[in-house]
Amino acid sequence: MSGAALLPCPFCGSADAHLDESRQYGHGEAFDTFKVRCECGAEVRVGSYAGDRPEQHKAEVVRRWNRRSTTS
Ligand SMILES: [Zn+2]
Repeated sequence: MSGAALLPCPFCGSADAHLDESRQYGHGEAFDTFKVRCECGAEVRVGSYAGDRPEQHKAEVVRRWNRRSTTS
């Protein structure tokens, strides 16, 4: 982990939100998804092509979560 702290969920107040990383492959390319998800169903997601500044995207998803601005 990068050490970035996640704030409690803006919707249910749970402190159990966590960061998931997943990699998918399609059309000859790898695609990474960084997602902060809470058990209540709230989530914030940032995607990037594999190897495309993963640390920056990880920081971005944490920042979005902490700002409580969801895109969905
Ligand atoms: Zn929640």
